[in-house]
Amino acid sequence: MTPFGTLVYNINLLKIMQHIANIINAQKALYKTQKTKDLSYRIQLLKALKKEIISKELSIFDALHNDFKKSVFESYVSEYALVISELNLAIKNLKKWAKPKRVRASLLTFPSKDYIYKEPYGNVLVIAPWNYPFLLGLEPLIMAIAAGNTVVLKPSEHAQHTSKILSEIIKTIFTEDIVACVQGGVETSTELLAQKWDYIFFTGSTHVGKIVAKAAAKHLTPVTLELGGKSPCIIDDTVNLNLIAKRLAWGKFFNCGQTCIAPDYVIVKSQIKEQLIEALKKAIIKMYGENAQKSDDFPRVINNTHTLRLSNLIKNENVIFGGNMVIDQNYIAPTLIDEPNLESPLMSEETFGPILPILSYNTHHDIENIIANSQKPLALYVFSKNKKFTDSILKTYNFGGGVVNDLLVHFGNHRLPFGGIGASGMGNYHGKYGFDTFSHHKSVMKRGTWIDPSFRYPPYKSKITLLKKIFKYL
Ligand code: NAD
Repeated sequence: MTPFGTLVYNINLLKIMQHIANIINAQKALYKTQKTKDLSYRIQLLKALKKEIISKELSIFDALHNDFKKSVFESYVSEYALVISELNLAIKNLKKWAKPKRVRASLLTFPSKDYIYKEPYGNVLVIAPWNYPFLLGLEPLIMAIAAGNTVVLKPSEHAQHTSKILSEIIKTIFTEDIVACVQGGVETSTELLAQKWDYIFFTGSTHVGKIVAKAAAKHLTPVTLELGGKSPCIIDDTVNLNLIAKRLAWGKFFNCGQTCIAPDYVIVKSQIKEQLIEALKKAIIKMYGENAQKSDDFPRVINNTHTLRLSNLIKNENVIFGGNMVIDQNYIAPTLIDEPNLESPLMSEETFGPILPILSYNTHHDIENIIANSQKPLALYVFSKNKKFTDSILKTYNFGGGVVNDLLVHFGNHRLPFGGIGASGMGNYHGKYGFDTFSHHKSVMKRGTWIDPSFRYPPYKSKITLLKKIFKYL
């Protein structure tokens, strides 16, 4: 960088720092007023957000299309509709969720009335990724507002059109002291993370998740980390191949394979591998045509860096279908790879693109060996009609969440908590789980003064026998 370039960079950084400081001061001041504790106020905010989003429906689809050629169907089902249903759920249930919950008293402290209060943490930071940029920015934001927090959202710099519309929506209905959208890249994120927050909700890569956790640890800030990983899809020889191939092609190539819970690779019983490959090829062609580049339904890789990364991943692999790409248009065809080496880059990092490695197994030990190659995944899928087989897979492996005989669909049920384990994350959200994530569960015991047995007070002499008896009944 030239000295002039460095000067401009530093001036911009100072502006970012000042902007962030102003927002945080304003949000801290607003939170102190207790305004966000008012449930009607929160519902009013959520209703305004919903109205604004509905009014911008078409612009949202345009933004997603401009970012990575996402079709209206996929944008609707995997971003827009999920955001609206999360808003509807929060608006409808907020009063019930927020109500202090009475729990049974303990014999040890009888008589008392015991409650769990759902209290907002305070000032929350949400950092979002680019792959479902609308959904993954707004879903945590909705539940953070519902729980009574102020929020700063940092959307991804790689989905610029969607980040812009997110920022417009937020600016139109919220003042910055309640909800603000701060756009920017790594410097902005770094500056945000240097601040003291009451809660940080991060969705992104495991690598950046560690940076977030480290920054949060400095202030002992609680975090939710929604991260990625290599999610396996195990297929035995009892399945209906044509159906499985359809579901697999859909689940893998949806959003061009850029889904955190996409099946990263397949482990299939060796006897049916060739048949599965043939069925998969047919299913892909049926969905996207002979040339997926011409399909309106097949999105692009988000940017050139990722396109190049993906092209490098398959350089030395046995490509058995697809493999063609137009790098400057961020196009990579749906691609199948036969039996990659477990040590290869393709099997060492999260693929996160339209590339499906297919490995075969004969024994449980083979499956174990392949899965042991990566860390605890965000998702795991098993296709089989054999209950004993599916049960043993579900029991053996640690993973965030999964599905038997389908893919991705567990994301769609707000009654199931969504989150990772180990390297794929910590904490969870969706529906009420999201509300709970952004609420501190404050235990309160209410006691009367009408009775005060002397038992607990010294002198303790001769009271231990009775104490032991009481503990037996607890
Ligand atoms: P990323 O980690 O590169 O970026 C996520 C966010 O962090 C962005 O807003 C980015 O600006 C910010 N960031 C990047 N580098 C940073 C740094 N050094 N310091 C501070 N902030 C930084 O992730 P991505 O590429 O946007 O998204 C893809 C990843 O996210 C994949 O690994 C995918 O599996 C994961 N993901 C997980 C979920 C989930 O729900 N578990 C959902 C979607 C994506």
